[in-house]
Amino acid sequence: MTNRIPVLEIFGPTIQGEGMVAGQKTIFIRTFGCDYRCSWCDSKFTWDGTQKPILMSPEDILQKVSLLSNGTCNHVTISGGNPALISSLDVLLDLLQLEGFSVGLETQGSKWQDWFLKIQDLTISPKPPSSNMKTDVKTLENIILKLKENKINYSIKVVIFNDEDFTYAKKLHWRFPSPSHKWFLQVGNDDTNSKDNLAISLLEKYEWLCNKVIADKSMLSVRPLPQLHTLLWGNKQGV
Ligand code: SF4
Repeated sequence: MTNRIPVLEIFGPTIQGEGMVAGQKTIFIRTFGCDYRCSWCDSKFTWDGTQKPILMSPEDILQKVSLLSNGTCNHVTISGGNPALISSLDVLLDLLQLEGFSVGLETQGSKWQDWFLKIQDLTISPKPPSSNMKTDVKTLENIILKLKENKINYSIKVVIFNDEDFTYAKKLHWRFPSPSHKWFLQVGNDDTNSKDNLAISLLEKYEWLCNKVIADKSMLSVRPLPQLHTLLWGNKQGV
């Protein structure tokens, strides 16, 4: 029997809202558990115990994804939590790709897995100071080196809430400069409990971020982006 994977939710097709895959039609597989506790985490339910995971076999996950897709979608996003905590995603990745799905995955860069080499769109998203987490830059460097050596399609994305976060992103960009790595900055959502439409306040923050990038001499080939799904759907889960 293949290893079972702790899954919190599978939903879609929807539109990817973030980073290098923004705008991509995709189906989300959200795994359970995270080694971080970011202050502004918008998916706390993946690790705070409020929602329980289901242990699913790779075959069952593929079946659910195929059912949801019904031929309308050929891309899957594996997200968390931190999916890099799960050592046994190989079989699922093989099955998805055999069925014609390409796979995107996001992780904070705290842990390497050999199956990263099977991902088509890999986002490494180190967390800035506003998260209250500390980046292990050596681990991050090792991960980025391996991805580069193996010519994986990856990007670095940092969520920005304030000036201190922007300074952190600048330092990281200095260490791992574009255009060697695709680079994205993304406006943070600090209102994760609101049920309101957040579009106006998020667009104001997006304008603030764009102006910072425009004025900065070192942030070349860095692309500031909004979180598309939050503009559309606010904090609603499962879209
Ligand atoms: Fe939440 Fe992601 Fe931070 Fe984990 S790494 S606590 S899932 S924002």
